[in-house]
Amino acid sequence: MRGEGIRARKSLGQNFLTDRNILVRIAGLVSAGPDDRILEIGPGKGALTALLAGNGAQLVAVELDTRLVPLLREAYRENPQVEIVHGDILEIDLPALLAPYGDGVWQVAANLPYNISTPVLFLLLDNRRLFSRLVLMLQKEVGDRLAAHPGSKDYGVLSVLFQLHFDIVRELIVRPGSFHPVPKVDSAVLSFVPLDTPRVAVGDEAFFRRVVKGAFSMRRKTLWNCLRGAGLGVTDEGVAAALAQCGIEAGRRGETLGLEEFAQLANALLAKRD
Ligand code: SAM
Repeated sequence: MRGEGIRARKSLGQNFLTDRNILVRIAGLVSAGPDDRILEIGPGKGALTALLAGNGAQLVAVELDTRLVPLLREAYRENPQVEIVHGDILEIDLPALLAPYGDGVWQVAANLPYNISTPVLFLLLDNRRLFSRLVLMLQKEVGDRLAAHPGSKDYGVLSVLFQLHFDIVRELIVRPGSFHPVPKVDSAVLSFVPLDTPRVAVGDEAFFRRVVKGAFSMRRKTLWNCLRGAGLGVTDEGVAAALAQCGIEAGRRGETLGLEEFAQLANALLAKRD
């Protein structure tokens, strides 16, 4: 394998996929023909990269590890369709990175470094217009939260904010033994397809996010208590009135609200802001 002598760095979230069956299944979730464009985050030693690039897709791969970038560049020296970018995915201006390739949407494929999976998820959420599909390996627990339904223990901020904009499918569970070094927890591969319009109408998305985060800020407390303390710029009377207007009992908990109810509530609270 390429980079055999290079030791994995925990600080970079490096757990390299070594199970060929899993690699093939992940690559199979991405359309990788000559007309396709793929952004890979964290190609590592290039195990997935090789399958993604194999059929002539345009591939841009962003890797932070200075030890791995030269190996990857050397491997793709004669393939003009593959560009290896040295950098931190969280610092890169994604629209500017992809603009030189002209119009057209991209797919994202990544076995994400788990230590930065949440900020990367939000980066992709905020840039969703660039993408037709995301295929992401995450900690199973994070995948459970993304795909959870109201009332379940995993339902929370990630579920609401991502389901507003994506169809999400849990594709496969990957056991620790498929990686080197072996991680402590199970992983999951999920695919995300961005919706043309949000699943429910939200007046002001930044405010909607604040309401959702507020509603889940104290798991055991009622919506009334959570929202009063959420710094939304709405008086207690305003919070009570917004809940009543939406027919939502103040004694309910955030985890019982579906997307439609969250949208109605955020829109009602927005109208009551000082
Ligand atoms: N794709 C490879 C595989 O499946 O074997 C490696 C996956 S490993 C979990 C995550 C990769 O992301 C590592 O190669 C790591 O160096 C890289 N990485 C970590 N932080 C990064 C960042 N901020 N920007 C870009 N790449 C990063």
